[in-house]
Amino acid sequence: MPELPEVETTRRGIAPYLIGRRVTGVILRRPDLRWPIPPEIGALLPGQRIDAVERRAKYLLLHTEAGSALLHLGMSGVLRVLPPDAPVGKHDHVDIALERTSTQAPRILRFTDPRRFGCLLWQPPGETHELLAKLGPEPLTDAFGGDLLWRLSRGRTAAVKLFLMDNAVVVGVGNIYASEALFAAGIDPRRAAGAVARERYVRLAGEVKRILAWAIERGGTTLRDFLSPDGLPGYFFRELNVYGRAGEPCRVCGTPVRQAVLGQRSTFWCPHCQR
Ligand SMILES: [Zn+2]
Repeated sequence: MPELPEVETTRRGIAPYLIGRRVTGVILRRPDLRWPIPPEIGALLPGQRIDAVERRAKYLLLHTEAGSALLHLGMSGVLRVLPPDAPVGKHDHVDIALERTSTQAPRILRFTDPRRFGCLLWQPPGETHELLAKLGPEPLTDAFGGDLLWRLSRGRTAAVKLFLMDNAVVVGVGNIYASEALFAAGIDPRRAAGAVARERYVRLAGEVKRILAWAIERGGTTLRDFLSPDGLPGYFFRELNVYGRAGEPCRVCGTPVRQAVLGQRSTFWCPHCQR
């Protein structure tokens, strides 16, 4: 599943082709993805200029004066910028056509999503879509830090890993990055969130920021379903410390990495390095 770094990599990949350009047409090859595609996309978007491409959590927003197209890549979604005559595959559900400019040939922004867990929705100007309304802070901003984690976790008995993956606490810390950040901070992912001390949360928040920034720098993780906007796979999956390494030696101490299911997601940790 694309996580925050992949979505941010996608944003950075497509933004230069979109910003300042006018939409000349929208092709919807099916009426729905995960949810029905609202009629505003086809009615209001053509003719509009894309003023900004924003990421909020794992959503991408294409902002125009008439409103914003809100996209989520779901489990297997990919956005690519292609020539208008690119051959259409059976999972290519949406094309947003972009005008020719003095410096750029006409292009289409194509949304491909074999499993259709992604979405394309509409946010009217000046409003915040309900999917975005209750989200916690962005992990790479100053609004997120160890003190916030410590404050919100008091009295919580849920495992610290599930607490860290709660979008109301902080957005975009998915399974891979939660596992890696907890390893880097030396915290057992099964520990009750309310039992983790303040200074350990300060360290954890720092590791979350460091690892996400590092992943974005490298273009996101390599996952089967994910390709970066230029069609190349990400390339640092092999550098992960615990995620996907059950039974293999910890890179720090050599103890076999353990795996368990926590909140229906696979969790990996080193029983020696993480307490
Ligand atoms: Zn270890």
